[in-house]
Amino acid sequence: MQIKGTTRVCGLIGNPVAHSLSPFIHNKLAQGMGIDLAYVTFKVDGDKVSQAVNGAYALDIMGMNVTVPHKQAVMDPIVEIDPLANAIGAVNTLVRVDGGYKGYNTDILGLKRELKEAGVDLKNRDVVILGAGGAARAIAFLCASEEARRIDICNRTVEKAKSIEEAVKTYYKTDYNRDIDIRSKQIENYTFDGPDGYLVIQATSIGLAPNVDDVVIEDPKFYERAEVGVDIIYNPAETKFMKLMKMHGAQACNGLMMLLYQAVAAFELWNDCQVDSKVIDSVRNELIDEMKKPNIVLIGFMGSGKSSLGRWIAKNHDYELIDTDEAIEKKEGRSISDIFETDGEDYFRNLETELIKELSSKKGKIISVGGGLPVKEENQTYLKQAGKVVYLKASLEELVKRLSGDDKRPLLKGSDLKTKIESLMEKRKDIYSSVSDIEIDTTGREFEDLYEEIINN
Ligand code: NDP
Repeated sequence: MQIKGTTRVCGLIGNPVAHSLSPFIHNKLAQGMGIDLAYVTFKVDGDKVSQAVNGAYALDIMGMNVTVPHKQAVMDPIVEIDPLANAIGAVNTLVRVDGGYKGYNTDILGLKRELKEAGVDLKNRDVVILGAGGAARAIAFLCASEEARRIDICNRTVEKAKSIEEAVKTYYKTDYNRDIDIRSKQIENYTFDGPDGYLVIQATSIGLAPNVDDVVIEDPKFYERAEVGVDIIYNPAETKFMKLMKMHGAQACNGLMMLLYQAVAAFELWNDCQVDSKVIDSVRNELIDEMKKPNIVLIGFMGSGKSSLGRWIAKNHDYELIDTDEAIEKKEGRSISDIFETDGEDYFRNLETELIKELSSKKGKIISVGGGLPVKEENQTYLKQAGKVVYLKASLEELVKRLSGDDKRPLLKGSDLKTKIESLMEKRKDIYSSVSDIEIDTTGREFEDLYEEIINN
């Protein structure tokens, strides 16, 4: 969307903010809804929160999100506060009103909508909340406000769970004369001492990438007895907690929709609108793509190990493998040798260009690139756009060893394999070097070792 004189500004204050997905989500929502709004991040130091909020108001900024560590501090400079956000003790959204901003907590609105979409009704349900941090606190209030039957709040530091228990009980007794069945528990050796079929909301930071094999409760019985599990973590898309839930027959979802819906709730408050469900679906799909890992692009001479390393990385590290030669053969329904013989090399190179151009806008793929593809100048730009370009190298002797007896390569057909490889290598090696981000010698090395080097460089 073009920034104009009329464009309204919304933003995020926190520290750090550079990693945030909120600009991506809000700018997509604005675009989808045709609203003239730009969303940016503001890194604000702890002692400048009041100045930042007052300055934002003076600058006519329409609304703000607030993230860690300012969700409490921001309650000071605002002029009004939603009662539930006040009880939770954390504000993540500021809406412009007369004389200042009003604070809300849309995290709980996000989770509420995610649960509704997943067909999970909190009313009369037994809920187990794992964790007692900021997110768990908001979730406990949501469960109470939606009339869950019983809420167990389990944490490593049980005092924190106890403080949430007391805050929830006091708020609902004082303001609504309701007694809430909320019990604080030690998470170690926890079992639910009520009936089976409970809902578990995983709100600890355990299992967050890169520690994807961690889970806060291991006991299989805990998962067997549960009916639904929601992990509010969204990176990775499937946490160990979710895997265990599914393995024991329970429904499981991650926190991505909570993240998206808390943004939608804020966007609706700022713009006094209801975001179209088609726009939400499209932003969700774009968000899923955005969160995928950047592509790894393997280039190098034939026989350098691109296909076998690519296959191994895809299998062991959750990437989708695209082998450009195989993709072209599949699309054309014939072998590369046939394509060369019938339509010539130029025709084949154009197919490569089309494919690498298409792949340059994707994510989460390991792309094993045909040896001649980087030679064409046009392809070099697309390769660089496609991801981290890794030049896999092997010595001439090693290549001869790997390629002898291989009759599928049109450019190596005929006698004197060594001279052919040597002359092709001579023509291509500088191009491979110039187009790559890193160069790796593959001779005698394990795949895991090569993968580590790729990821860490
Ligand atoms: P906090 O830092 O406030 O709380 C962290 C929680 O994790 C605490 O309960 C803490 O226990 C527990 N924890 C941390 N390390 C361990 C450990 N080694 N063993 C046992 N428990 C541990 O974080 P938040 O509440 O703000 O966020 C929690 C998670 O939820 C984060 O991963 C965050 O990314 C995600 N989140 C997702 C949202 C979404 O929109 N989907 C929104 C907000 C958060 P203790 O108190 O004992 O230290």
